[in-house]
Amino acid sequence: MSYVSSVSKSLQARYPWEKEFLQATTEVLESLEEFVERNPKYKQARILERIVEPERVISFRVCWLDDKGEVQVNRGYRVQFNSAIGPYKGGLRFHPSVTLSMLKFLAFEQTFKNALTTLPMGGGKGGSDFNPTGKSETEIMRFCQSFMTELYRHIGPHLDVPAGDVGVGGREVGYLYGQYKRIVNQFDAATLTGKGLTFGGSILRPEATGYGAVYFVVEMLKTKGETIKGKTVGISGFGNVSWGVAKKATELGAKVISLSGPDGCVIDPDGIGTEEKWNYMLEMRASGRDVVKDYADKFDVRFYAKARPWDIIPMDIAMPSAFQNEVSLENVKNLIKNGCKILAEVSNMGCTAEAFKLANEKMMYAPGKAVNAGGVAVSGLEMSQNSERLSWRAEEVDEKLKWIMSNIHAQCLAAAEAVGDPGNYAKGANIAGFKKVAEAMLAQGVV
Ligand code: GLU
Repeated sequence: MSYVSSVSKSLQARYPWEKEFLQATTEVLESLEEFVERNPKYKQARILERIVEPERVISFRVCWLDDKGEVQVNRGYRVQFNSAIGPYKGGLRFHPSVTLSMLKFLAFEQTFKNALTTLPMGGGKGGSDFNPTGKSETEIMRFCQSFMTELYRHIGPHLDVPAGDVGVGGREVGYLYGQYKRIVNQFDAATLTGKGLTFGGSILRPEATGYGAVYFVVEMLKTKGETIKGKTVGISGFGNVSWGVAKKATELGAKVISLSGPDGCVIDPDGIGTEEKWNYMLEMRASGRDVVKDYADKFDVRFYAKARPWDIIPMDIAMPSAFQNEVSLENVKNLIKNGCKILAEVSNMGCTAEAFKLANEKMMYAPGKAVNAGGVAVSGLEMSQNSERLSWRAEEVDEKLKWIMSNIHAQCLAAAEAVGDPGNYAKGANIAGFKKVAEAMLAQGVV
């Protein structure tokens, strides 16, 4: 049995219930097989066994009072996965589906993603099974304060730097930071990223994930001698990431034709391409209702209950921007049938294992850890600005983001080419990210 298979097998035996974590590790380990076999130093130092094990997992109780004065109890977590190249870095997810398995998969992916950005950030992720849908402003604030009252002792600018993710946006980061600052009695701005502009946030951080994803797609198209101008783009989700994709894709001349939510999807044949429509996306998100049908009612377009855009309308480029495993094998088959050539995952592990295999074989496919790295990259730039006690101009941040995305794209292609699999972005991203983290681990000895 190969080294990779034996590590994979023992993980499956140890954590049989951690479905998402096993899905993520299996995909990464499989793609590393030839590379690791060719470099025996990794096996000698047992790097694979070490890189799939979180350095530390923190789990805690979060009690808070709702608006009726009743006691509510949630679970909070922080997975500090790998600190070989920098302090743990990664978002917080507030969603009822959050489990340790989900956060382990996200923190594992984050380790590779952060390495690809070229910035000194390790991998981490956290969150809670708290459901923000339907909660009042004061409930959200009380929850964030209670969550931070426990988390604060585990984070800091040189230790672990959380940010937002699904269910955690600028408002939540503000409440979390306020409570952190109050407890530690220090203005440690670089302890959280995604902050408001008035207290150390970086300009373009809200846009960064979506903008970066579009910059990545532009690079993919360049390899075929094409541009994004005139292409139709289908996206899922309607949160901050989808918003950024819609804005930048439109600005570069593409037409964005879909959004989706837990209730279904909307198709807008005129394109989600005006300031009014983008602002309405933000309004829908801020309403806390978590339904996308409102968009159809407001702009008089069709709503498809419980459907996904991929099955409904032809598109040139698919950019799933919602949740893990949101794209099924059936969805990929439909995309291919309808002539879609590019599937750029903006969500983390947006494709199921089967969907990924087909997309990677038959389409131009790029994985979330490469495509969506712009968000955490600008978080890294926010940390730099906080350390310098300066704020950079939008042009400066945007230029750095563009460079980072084109560099990630180049790293993916170079690493894939080096193992004789040109154009395999998934393999390239895994190998390039792995190499950086693994080399740092080797250099730091058995710790
Ligand atoms: N949650 C985002 C991600 O998946 C951003 C993390 C961050 O900015 O630290 O990369």
